[in-house]
Amino acid sequence: MPKQSARLLLVNDVNFLLYTPFLPEAAAGTLEPRHVVTPLRDILKRTNLRLGAVTGHDPEAKTVRLDGHDGASDQLHYDRLVVAVGSVSRLLPIPGLAEHGIGFKSLSDAIWLRNHLIETLESANATEDPALRGQMLSYVFVGGGYAGLEALAELQDFAADAIQRYPRARLHGMRWILVEAAPGVLGEVDPKLGEYTVRELRGRGIEVMLSTRLEQVEKDSVRLSSGETVPCRTLVWTAGVAPHPSLRGLALPLAPSGHVPVDQFLRVAGYDGVYAVGDCAAVPNPDGGLCPPTAQHAVRQGKTAAINVAADLGIGAAERFSYRSRGMFANLGRFKAIGSTGGTGGRAWTFHGFPAWWMARTYHMSQLPGAARKLRAIADWTIGLAFSRDTAEVGSIGHPRPLREEVYARGGTHRPLSEDR
Ligand SMILES: Cc1cc2nc3c(=O)[nH]c(=O)nc-3n(C[C@H](O)[C@H](O)[C@H](O)COP(=O)(O)OP(=O)(O)OC[C@H]3O[C@@H](n4cnc5c(N)ncnc54)[C@H](O)[C@@H]3O)c2cc1C
Repeated sequence: MPKQSARLLLVNDVNFLLYTPFLPEAAAGTLEPRHVVTPLRDILKRTNLRLGAVTGHDPEAKTVRLDGHDGASDQLHYDRLVVAVGSVSRLLPIPGLAEHGIGFKSLSDAIWLRNHLIETLESANATEDPALRGQMLSYVFVGGGYAGLEALAELQDFAADAIQRYPRARLHGMRWILVEAAPGVLGEVDPKLGEYTVRELRGRGIEVMLSTRLEQVEKDSVRLSSGETVPCRTLVWTAGVAPHPSLRGLALPLAPSGHVPVDQFLRVAGYDGVYAVGDCAAVPNPDGGLCPPTAQHAVRQGKTAAINVAADLGIGAAERFSYRSRGMFANLGRFKAIGSTGGTGGRAWTFHGFPAWWMARTYHMSQLPGAARKLRAIADWTIGLAFSRDTAEVGSIGHPRPLREEVYARGGTHRPLSEDR
């Protein structure tokens, strides 16, 4: 095949790449939400981009169905297909969870949570009812993995600053709770780091409830396996991820976990020219078992799949996926983090406190795509050092009220912003 004759097409439902490690900082307002995403057209110079959802796949005809945002559908033919639909928050059959819980996976989750948190402070400050104030000022996070811990730590930092402007809410005090079913947090890292994290969170007044499960969620309370019912209006569910539901409509084999099984070359067995990578794929880990759902694995798998697709077209040789984790960082709010290098047993190095926070920032800076995004993030952090946090609640951005509702509003009918979601 002549060089440059292949046509690359990326189908995605949004036109940007979200740098998820900065999602907690976007939620806490340390970084402007637009600065944690990179427009795909800025970084993909030779790739065609189509916006929409892939909703079907015919492996015989080698076509996928694309439903565009404009409502039109299209059949796209492929010679090679790389499936990378990612993951969503893993839902468990806990009564009330789907109705009243919020996940922490997307930019809209992060922005909604920030606005909701400010709304709870406003309501708590306004109400004359101490019981309602207690509900508003209690925040429960379920799941002690790195994403949940980072979200909890950043948002608690933000709320501790913001509450200074709400005198009645400040007098009442907030309650922040982390619920984790296992006896420790951050199961995948050195237990010493998990213990440090628990000490650090408890030192800040966060209640860490280990070996405890969420049993029921109501609009204004949650019930825990310890028997305690916590009155609250905020339940953040960060207990793991599951493959994106659209995968079930793509006529591919699925493991019991819902992932697409692939071999070491990232090929789907029995499906000519089909590859799967990232959070939606069950990829054999060179160290045994399956790769964890992390960006550092997804990015390397993407590269291996690209090399193997090129090899199919006669360019270069196919490669096995052989990446071994280089370690991890988890940010614990302002100037605090934990981190460990790759390696097992005594070969892993661990860090915590300010040095880990500095290393995490430096590492993420190096990974954030594009010089413009790097500079914007640095500007946000620098400005954040000099000024207090912004507590404007801007949930209405992007959700203009239809004209007829303006009429109701002028007539005095109040509709809470949270209903705009
Ligand atoms: C808060 C948080 C912090 C994290 N921090 C880290 C970290 O520090 N280090 C790390 O290594 N990992 C981290 N991760 C994990 C990391 O984000 C994921 O492992 C990684 O994004 C997976 O990449 P992916 O390409 O498989 O999926 P995704 O990044 O989820 O991308 C999949 C894309 O496909 C789109 N899509 C899905 N279905 C369809 C469809 N049918 N049609 C069209 N488009 C579709 C999705 O909308 C999405 O844009 C973090 C995750 C979270 C939530």
